Amino acid sequence: KPLDQYDETSAAAALKKLRTQVNQYREAYYTKDQPLVEDYVYDTAYNDLQALEKKFPQLITPDSPTQLVGDETLPGFTKVRHDIPMLSMGDVFSVDELKTFDDRLQGSVGSAVTYNAELKIDGLALSLVYQGGKLTQASTRGDGIIGEDVTANIKTIKAVPRTLPRPIDVEVRGECYMPVSSFAKLNEDREQRGEAVFANPRNAAAGSLRQLNPRITRERDLSVWLYTIVNAQDYGITTQADALRTLSEWGFPVNPNSRVCRTLTDVDHYITDMTPQRQTLDYGIDGIVLKVNDLDLQAQLGNTVKVPRWEIAYKFPPEMARTIVREITWTV
Ligand code: NAD
Repeated sequence: KPLDQYDETSAAAALKKLRTQVNQYREAYYTKDQPLVEDYVYDTAYNDLQALEKKFPQLITPDSPTQLVGDETLPGFTKVRHDIPMLSMGDVFSVDELKTFDDRLQGSVGSAVTYNAELKIDGLALSLVYQGGKLTQASTRGDGIIGEDVTANIKTIKAVPRTLPRPIDVEVRGECYMPVSSFAKLNEDREQRGEAVFANPRNAAAGSLRQLNPRITRERDLSVWLYTIVNAQDYGITTQADALRTLSEWGFPVNPNSRVCRTLTDVDHYITDMTPQRQTLDYGIDGIVLKVNDLDLQAQLGNTVKVPRWEIAYKFPPEMARTIVREITWTV
């Protein structure tokens, strides 16, 4: 029902219901890699929860899904602590909402902001630690603070460099994904063997990486795109665009479709250019990410308990709706 029809008592009851529902979806998605519903169904329930909490902030609880990143780690994995938390990301669903984000940011910074726009890869977040240029630890995001140690599994992925060209100490982060073509082949094989199929490439990637037996991971075709250097300032890197260039020089796979955007018109063009690619790229993307390009400014803006204030995801409309629109266009 409309937000203005709630009083505190009815809101508390509705929040309880919504949290139970959202938590059920989250456990199936994050912990079991077997989502119960499509992302847009989850996003709708999550946004309803967030909107109601915004109207009644006194009813926000620290264990509400709006205050938490991801979910708990799977038993059996060694736990890894992220000294710098691996956060979630705020999201919007229209260019108008991007404008609101940009206005707010410009207001707090006091000048125009330059962004680095990137594809939002639909995989699972990964942290890779190199000491003296050697890969020593790979971990998942988990609940943002405690992730799973997947070093042995990651070492089965060819695209991940074991050794860097320089003997440096660095933590890099990015996304592990399964190519769409490999996902289709994997599901075909599983179906033939009478095994449960994966709902989408994201869940196939997560289910393949979070295996206690790395030999299973080796049989799956996984790859990575890296996009963050956690200790970039140690290497004199001042912008996100520079960080991407450096990652590439160090031998990491870096997605080629990023673009520096100085205005919202640039961002609009980026979205227009990238949206159709969703149908043709051999990896899943569920939107674009706008990041403040200047790393000092990112640090100055900081994070909320759950998301960085310096980045935002613009999510594409659900695939199904797009298919319907295409079909209608075809019929007409
Ligand atoms: P998120 O996936 O929306 O955003 C944060 C993540 O984006 C980061 O952790 C990172 O892994 C990823 N990312 C991809 N490309 C990136 C790039 N270029 N730069 C930086 N980060 C990049 O956040 P979330 O909190 O993990 O999850 C919310 C998402 O999961 C939503 O899309 C939601 O629909 C989906 N979800 C679905 C269900 C379901 O039941 N279907 C349940 C829970 C969550």
